Amino acid sequence: MITPAGKECRYYYADHHRGRNVQECRLIARNRNNHEPWIPALCTSCPVPDILQANLCPDMHLEGEVARKWLFLKEVKVTAYCTRTMSEVKEPHVGCGQCHTPPIPIDEGDLK
Ligand code: SF4
Repeated sequence: MITPAGKECRYYYADHHRGRNVQECRLIARNRNNHEPWIPALCTSCPVPDILQANLCPDMHLEGEVARKWLFLKEVKVTAYCTRTMSEVKEPHVGCGQCHTPPIPIDEGDLK
């Protein structure tokens, strides 16, 4: 679904059908440790749409939390975890790098 910030995000949900006014971030909603309320304006600076566009690894699991940036400013803080290697993904745009091992070098003699 397209977020209020104009980017595609699989975690955004909105329902304005027949007078309903539902907007939610399902990434934040599923985090039981999140204590700050989500508001649609957070989509503007959220890194998740860009992460999803850069890395479609099915083994990467994202966690989102609303965190305080400055006194009143808030932002979505994202952490990523690889369920295959059971480790934190430090750079979610790139991935953990374990699935993408370098290709096996081809012996030029095999091509002739
Ligand atoms: S806050 Fe981020 S993850 Fe949540 S709906 Fe908006 S863009 Fe998607």
